[in-house]
Amino acid sequence: METTKTLKASIKIINNNDHDTSSNQNDQNWLRFICIVCPKSCEIDIQVDKNHHMTDIKGAGCKRGKEYVQKELVSPSRVFTSLIKVKNSSVRMCPVRTDIPIAKDLLIPLAKSLANVELSAPIQQGTILVENIGGTTAKLIATREIKKSDK
Ligand code: SF4
Repeated sequence: METTKTLKASIKIINNNDHDTSSNQNDQNWLRFICIVCPKSCEIDIQVDKNHHMTDIKGAGCKRGKEYVQKELVSPSRVFTSLIKVKNSSVRMCPVRTDIPIAKDLLIPLAKSLANVELSAPIQQGTILVENIGGTTAKLIATREIKKSDK
């Protein structure tokens, strides 16, 4: 048996029977992450103690996987991507993204806050639309050029 409970999209508590439990303590759990750092998508299992400190790791294809899960344990973050409405153009939506990952908890509130925002063409690719978006140090950037329509 594998999964007993899904924590977040990329994290699962897995049954200790999947691993050598000879050194396990009752207050330790194995968690499974899917590493998203590169396309290999390694399944990384880590053992954490009751204070959420990593005590063992299996399945990481490289050291970046260990760094990824350590960061996910403390502060999960993702690059925010979305589409924002555009006026004055035949293109209706402008794709945007943050220049750096932001806290995962901010992704949905940020998407909601941009739902009624409308940009005005022309927009240059790479234009910084918002500095310090959502109170973070991230910039929100247009990722496509949007030309103004002739009408
Ligand atoms: S652990 Fe390393 S090899 Fe595996 S997905 Fe992550 S970055 Fe890629």
